[in-house]
Amino acid sequence: MTYSEPTTNSCSWSTNTSMPGARLLPLVEFYGSLGLPTFPIHSGPRVPPRGSHGHLEATTDPDEFRYLLTRFSPYSTVGLAARMGDELVGGGYAVTLDLDVKNGKDGPATLRHRELPVSDTLTADTRSGGFHHLYASPVPLRTHNNLLSGVDVKGAGGWIAVAPTPGYHWRVDSDGPTRELIQPAMRWLLMACDRARPTNRAHDTGARRELVVCWAHNDTNPSLQITTLADGRKLYHCFGGCTYDQIVASDPELIELTELYTGEGQ
Ligand SMILES: [Zn+2]
Repeated sequence: MTYSEPTTNSCSWSTNTSMPGARLLPLVEFYGSLGLPTFPIHSGPRVPPRGSHGHLEATTDPDEFRYLLTRFSPYSTVGLAARMGDELVGGGYAVTLDLDVKNGKDGPATLRHRELPVSDTLTADTRSGGFHHLYASPVPLRTHNNLLSGVDVKGAGGWIAVAPTPGYHWRVDSDGPTRELIQPAMRWLLMACDRARPTNRAHDTGARRELVVCWAHNDTNPSLQITTLADGRKLYHCFGGCTYDQIVASDPELIELTELYTGEGQ
């Protein structure tokens, strides 16, 4: 099965109230109910307002969002962005396969050419004529821009513009996106992106540390230090010199986890 573009009808799901900005408040709560914190962006250039901290300030609380809106001038048009990498309601971590069709790049064509499958999941049309496919990953994935030509992965540290930002439409019925529509990420995506690296170790509390025999090189004395952070992410350091990517690629736990999660047995 190779990539085929979504065929279901596009529905411009959103609420219908009159005040710019304030109309987003019910949606902040709605996206929050899926486990997706949101923050305001300019709906034209799709950037966070000057002086804000963008996705770092994303929230599921309408009152906090109302405060974020005060950063906009009254004349700005406001869109909505959802932060990736957070834990979804019902389990898994949000990750988006972002397929662009612009500037000579064609993400869907790239996937077809490489015969990489894309399973059905919650999907949006994007302003560029591309697609956002939103998945649940068993572990937090890193953001990889330009993973392949026209193919970005938005995980930890990443975000996507979402409806009702102009040009973004979920392919759903009038009930809007639901958690049930968000399917497990494909195994190739998990293996391509491996785990999120912690961004700030100083803030990690409750980390556990152990030294084990490294599975990535011919190790006799335990030389792989595994730091398990409070949120479950793991940090690897091999004193034998293996790189992070080498260690992750042969991580028996990760391989077992992804096989279990995706039901792909190889
Ligand atoms: Zn090693």
